[in-house]
This record gives sequence, C-alpha cells and structure tokens, in this order.
Amino acid sequence: MNAKELKEKLYYQKKNGLLKVDDVTLKAVSDYCEGYKNFLDNAKTEREAVKTAVALAEDKGFKAFDRSKTYKAGDKVYFNNRGKTVAFAIIGKEDMEKGVNITAAHIDSPRLDLKPNPLYEEIELALFKTHYYGGIRKYQWPTVPLALHGVFAKKDGSVVEVNIGEDESDPKFVVNDLLPHLAAEQSKRTLSDGIRGEELNVLVGSHPFKDDEGSELVRLNILKILNEKYDIVEEDFLSAELEMVPAYKASDVGFDRSLIGAYGQDDRVCSYPALTAILDITVPEKTAVAILADKEEIGSDGNTGLNSDFLLHVIGDICHTQGGDVTVCLRNSKCLSADVNAATDPTFQDVMERRNASFVNYGVVITKYTGSRGKSGTSDASAEYVAEVRAMLDNAGIIWQTGELGKVDAGGGGTVAMYIANLGVDVVDLGVPVLSMHAPFETTSKLDVYMCYRAMYEFMK
Ligand code: MN
Ligand code: MN
Repeated sequence: MNAKELKEKLYYQKKNGLLKVDDVTLKAVSDYCEGYKNFLDNAKTEREAVKTAVALAEDKGFKAFDRSKTYKAGDKVYFNNRGKTVAFAIIGKEDMEKGVNITAAHIDSPRLDLKPNPLYEEIELALFKTHYYGGIRKYQWPTVPLALHGVFAKKDGSVVEVNIGEDESDPKFVVNDLLPHLAAEQSKRTLSDGIRGEELNVLVGSHPFKDDEGSELVRLNILKILNEKYDIVEEDFLSAELEMVPAYKASDVGFDRSLIGAYGQDDRVCSYPALTAILDITVPEKTAVAILADKEEIGSDGNTGLNSDFLLHVIGDICHTQGGDVTVCLRNSKCLSADVNAATDPTFQDVMERRNASFVNYGVVITKYTGSRGKSGTSDASAEYVAEVRAMLDNAGIIWQTGELGKVDAGGGGTVAMYIANLGVDVVDLGVPVLSMHAPFETTSKLDVYMCYRAMYEFMK
C-alpha cells in the first residue's frame, strides 16, 4: 500500500458537500428550501411559529393530545404550551418504556421587545422604548426596517394580535443612528458600546393630533390610531408581548442561489427540518417527538422554556396512556438537540480552530459539546452516542461534519441539550452552520438545511 492509499484508508477526509451530490438531490434541496423560506416569512416570532406549525400538523392529521384517550401506533398528537412552545408526537410501534426519539429545536430568536410602558414623545417625534431579547450585537440593529409582531392581552380576557410592517404596503419602524458627520464622539466608543441598550429606541410617528392646546400631541395621535385599529388604551401595553423584528422577507443569497439570507434562522433553520420531518413520518418504530421551544435565547428558563418540566410531562402523559413508567421511558430515550453552530466566516477565520470548525456546505454539524472555558455549561455527549449518530448519518448517505463553537476560550454558548440530558436522556447537538448568527440577517446554505431535514427524519422514522 502506498502513502496515497494509506491516507485514503486512515485519514478523516472532509469534502464540500456540493461536490458529493447529484442533480436530483440538488433539485430536492432547492425545492425543500422554498418551503423553508416561506416558513421563515410566516413564523418570525415563537407565537407565529407555533401557529404555523400546528396548522401544518393538523393538515397531516395531528390532533391536540387527550389524556383520557388510548392511542395506537401511527396516531399523531400535539401539546400546545401557551401558544409559545409546541411538542408533536407520533405513537410508535414499540411501547413508550422502550424509549422515545426526540428532536428539539427552538423558535424564539434575538429581537427588540417593547418595554411594558414603551410609548413616549421627544421633540414632537413618537418612539417606543425597547429591551433587547437574547444576545444581540446592538450596533447591528439601527437603520434596519422593522415590523411589529405580538399581542395585547386585555383585562377582559381577549387577546389582540398585532402584525404590522410585513405587507409591502405596511408602514415600517426604525431605530435611528447618528450621521457620520456628527459621530466623532460616538465613534470613540468600543464596538460593544457603540449603540447602548437605552439607545435602541424605535421611531413610530411624527404627526401631531390637530389641536392648538395641549402637549405631546404626536403621542396622543399614535394612541388614537392604536385605539381605532386595536381597541386598546395605553395601559394595555402593560400586558402585551410586542416584538420588533426585521421587516424583510427571506431570500436567496449569491449569484448561484446556493445560500439563504433571513432574520431568525437561529433556530428556525433546525425547527423547520424537525417539524417537516415529523410531518413526513407515518408509523415510527419508537414514538417520535419533535419539540419546538421558546426562551432558548435567554437561557431556556420560564414555563415555555426547556429548562421547565414541560417535556417531562409531555412524555409522562403519553406513557400514562399506555400505563407505562416515564422514568423507564426516559432512561431509554434519545435526543437530537437541533440547534445551529457558527459557520467559519472567511473574513473572521481567526476565532475558529480550522480542524474543529464547521463550514458552509459541508452538511449538518454534530456538536459534541458547547459551553465555554473548560467545557462549562454543556452536556458533552458520550462517545457511544456520537458513534451511534455517525453510523445513522453514514448509513443514510447524509452529508455531515463536526464543529466546535469557535476556538478554546474565544467565547462560547449553549443550547437546550443540557436540559434534556438532565432528564437522563442521551443527547447530542446536530444542526446547521450559520454565518452572522444572531444578526438581523443571517446566512445559511441550502444543502446544509436539507441535510438537517434528512437527519431529523432518519432519527425519528
Ligand atoms: Mn440557537
Ligand atoms: Mn442563538
């Protein structure tokens, strides 16, 4: 055996996935991503993602779970947690105590939330105060056209939905920034301090209510418009969840259309694959569960986050219908935590360690551990479980790679993996590499998105 042959036998070979696939696969990739872009445009918030996902699932025969019923293999149910987190399940041929296969992704994304009392007027302009949600780089958000999504919950129990800025004809909103001519002082600030939290104020109007008497007539006029449109008064902002998100739609990126650019791809780029995979499954061997969760970007806390007992109770409820024990079930269960990793950026390669970084078009990424410093704050999947996932991917011809989240001590991050691991379930992160993660416009590769779908399907089928 010469060196070339020996290398082929022994080396871990990496190759661009686009050089491995045929035209039939490329067509499937492109078709699949049209649906994905559509999902991105219709599901910019966790509430909209749940609504969109439930509608798609109901079309495929999923019904709200009923604890008093008995279910047979192939039955499809969902658990809607406050309209912000949803779990879909298809009952498997095997008993629940044999374990379930879980895919878990999140549907919340970084954004600007309105403060409880947001509206104010300065120099005859009306603005909203915001409180950013998740890890944003604040300087990226000014001068981006924004849309307002969310709900007002009124004292009479009614909930009014808001979605303004998405239609071509809708008005948009914007955080303004200084002109370069007058930014001499601001430009001396560090990048992280370039735009401060209390400077992320959104312009929402300038037309005063016509009256010679009185102050703050612009603010008054805005409230008059909101009252006419939504039947709300200013106090109703106190019980609202209103989110400012980028107003543009998802689009192809590049002359060759090989990439997708959009807001909120972390983590809808894994949510959509997990969702469409479970929608395409008929009767799985083991019960399949796909969960789309809220609150990941702020630490998974709260009753719609995966650090709550929601998933435990979902699995417990299904076990209950079979007279099975949830502890035994969890001990035998497996999970793919479907979340993004950082793709290597050609301009910023120095934060990556090339041998252990993920690359666009190299397929879905296995991330054995996330966390920061000395692997703090991660579940670190076992070697045995990673081997199992490798075998599954290779046997199905799925293009995949591995990645760490940047160089040692360069930073770090986390996913929902460790909260599911804490239930005693085997978990590893598997997701799509993203460029400009958490920015108002994130970039992914179509091939990687499709490979994520195939991995989710293979795991749950
Ligand atoms: Mn994520
Ligand atoms: Mn994130």
